[in-house]
Amino acid sequence: MKKRDREIKAFFRNLDRGFFMDSFKEMAFVDEAVPIGHEQTISQPSLVLEMTLSLDLAPDSKVLEIGTGSGFQTALLAEFSGSVFTVERIKELHQRAKERLGELGYDNISFKLDDGSFGWQENAPYDRIMVTAAASEIPEELISQLAPGGKMIIPVGSSFTQELRLIEKDDNGKLYSTLLNQVRFVPLKGKYE
Ligand code: SAM
Repeated sequence: MKKRDREIKAFFRNLDRGFFMDSFKEMAFVDEAVPIGHEQTISQPSLVLEMTLSLDLAPDSKVLEIGTGSGFQTALLAEFSGSVFTVERIKELHQRAKERLGELGYDNISFKLDDGSFGWQENAPYDRIMVTAAASEIPEELISQLAPGGKMIIPVGSSFTQELRLIEKDDNGKLYSTLLNQVRFVPLKGKYE
């Protein structure tokens, strides 16, 4: 196992999931998605870890995250990359995540309240993209904002079940897609719902 993967696992084991939840805190140690209000969920911990490891973060990676949610996944991204740009469409979740991650002292995260279906063009390209809501197809906007040599993790499929895909863009812009898992995420609202 790579040293960095060991470091991510160690950090993850010590990350207090309950800190990212305002209700159902007794569920923090259960390996399931848990409601965080607004019909949204904090993701299943084992999946958050799998997705983070699969993204293959480097200390200088510039990362785009679509679906800030509770900020749980954002903390992992911020800990193991250079900078994180995270987009959330629900104001209350966006605000709470910003407060929590500020409290934890992260100064490498930029937050945006918006529809993330279109990515965050102003700061593109990104070395890594993490999408934490399910899209019916891979948004072309996210493909074009992924840097050559970049990697993206995204759940793609129907509202009931999706394929968790790793998309890799080579230096010539050619795309490769790998199936990682079968998953069930809340929908990516908007154009790719
Ligand atoms: N990793 C997050 C966590 O553990 O808290 C998961 C968040 S939840 C599964 C998915 C999030 O994506 C929700 O907060 C939802 O509001 C957000 N979302 C859905 N569609 C979106 C869109 N078009 N733009 C931005 N955020 C979106």
